[in-house]
Amino acid sequence: MPSRRHPDTWTNWAGTVHCEVTNHAQPVTIEQIQAEVLRAAEEGERLRPVGAGRSFSPLCWSDENHLSLAKFTGIESTDVQNQRVWVRSGTTLRRLTHSLANRGLALENAPDNDRLTLSGAISTASHGSGAAFGNLSTLVTGLRMVCADGTVREVRPDTDAELFSATAVSLGALGVITHVELQCVDDYKLVSSTASTTLGVAMERLNELRRDHRNAELFWFPYANSVIVRALDVTRDPKSWLSPVRHTLTHSLERRIYSSIAIAARRAPRTAERFGRMLTRRNATRSNVVDARDAYAFRRFARFQALEYALPVERLPAAIEALDKIIRALDFRVHFPIEVRFVKSDALWLSPHTGRESACVAVPAYPDTPFEGYFSVVAEVLERHGGRPHWGMVHPHTHDELRTMYPRFDDFCALRRELDPRGLFLNPHLAAVFGESLR
Ligand SMILES: Cc1cc2nc3c(=O)[nH]c(=O)nc-3n(C[C@H](O)[C@H](O)[C@H](O)COP(=O)(O)OP(=O)(O)OC[C@H]3O[C@@H](n4cnc5c(N)ncnc54)[C@H](O)[C@@H]3O)c2cc1C
Repeated sequence: MPSRRHPDTWTNWAGTVHCEVTNHAQPVTIEQIQAEVLRAAEEGERLRPVGAGRSFSPLCWSDENHLSLAKFTGIESTDVQNQRVWVRSGTTLRRLTHSLANRGLALENAPDNDRLTLSGAISTASHGSGAAFGNLSTLVTGLRMVCADGTVREVRPDTDAELFSATAVSLGALGVITHVELQCVDDYKLVSSTASTTLGVAMERLNELRRDHRNAELFWFPYANSVIVRALDVTRDPKSWLSPVRHTLTHSLERRIYSSIAIAARRAPRTAERFGRMLTRRNATRSNVVDARDAYAFRRFARFQALEYALPVERLPAAIEALDKIIRALDFRVHFPIEVRFVKSDALWLSPHTGRESACVAVPAYPDTPFEGYFSVVAEVLERHGGRPHWGMVHPHTHDELRTMYPRFDDFCALRRELDPRGLFLNPHLAAVFGESLR
């Protein structure tokens, strides 16, 4: 089996979580995955499933075993009639969306990064934007998982609703998810457009923006009081000339400009305000028609650190007003625009969107800036407005705080204990989250 047993340094994408794992396994069959889980269990070790390492929080930290499904990929079967596919869960979203397009299918919505693995993305309820769409885990119609005792379990919402609601977002704490069945839709094209406005107008028109566009998201430039609204809407128009290239260039250029503002703001704080205004003035409405598979994701050139909270959507304007006040008062010299996305309510136990329509506020910062003070103030404001943290982003919350945020949190902890009594799938971060001690 492709498995290495010598110390191996692992770092997450942001370069903020490092660990030395003694065994990094990349199984290629289900039996090898089972064998790896059983070996770690028998040797009294712990094991963390790892995806593409895009999480900012130390979910994947381990000093013993990493199990990656990077060699366990691809679509295994297609149910044409019901537009469902079984996918090996190490598949990246990029490969998945391209393979779906070859079958005339697409995901109804997706996160903005297609380097994520399917298992990693659903394990933290990763999401795109669009009031009518849930996070990626809500597209899951079945999954298979290798449990702590080495057995393979198939979990479906219709036959095992409770277990399914727990496993569809489970932080790699219940077992190794090997296969995911996804509900797809007919392939489609989207027209992307951007427009700029003021923060006040964006907050006033919030419901309209959510209703009038299939996928609307906001980029707010603190200090400059300005917002860029990016929208995606279904179209039958022909694809724009060189549409994927134009799409990439547009996003990349925007991202480069955001990074430049961040660098300038670090050196001369007042430039953040001036650049923010300039950028939003320049950003008049324009459009580009792209295939669904190319519409959601874009490349990042600068590495960053991020936190994100999902708020009840009706509390967004008050939360943004509070953030605006505190950012100005404390003069944090905010480097990156703050992003707001919309996610439909679901019933998954650890989903930040469980039981309510959400507005997700994402706050990025450069890792080499003193962002800790900024993040802790922002987290406090967003939590006060009913926010629940994104599991893949940094957050300061204790087990007791998390219990009050998630209505089924205690149920998840009890199920986790039942499925994995020895804590094979725990690490120090997860032990703290679930209120366990590591022996
Ligand atoms: C540049 C960038 C852009 C991002 N954009 C978005 C976005 O648009 N929307 C959003 O919501 N989030 C976004 N994120 C956060 C990201 O989606 C999540 O952190 C996601 O979980 C990362 O997926 P991954 O494949 O890298 O998984 P990892 O970070 O490697 O792992 C995440 C979790 O999944 C578990 N896991 C992985 N594989 C398995 C498996 N086979 N079985 C069981 N558990 C498993 C791990 O144990 C861990 O708990 C972004 C992050 C970055 C760095």
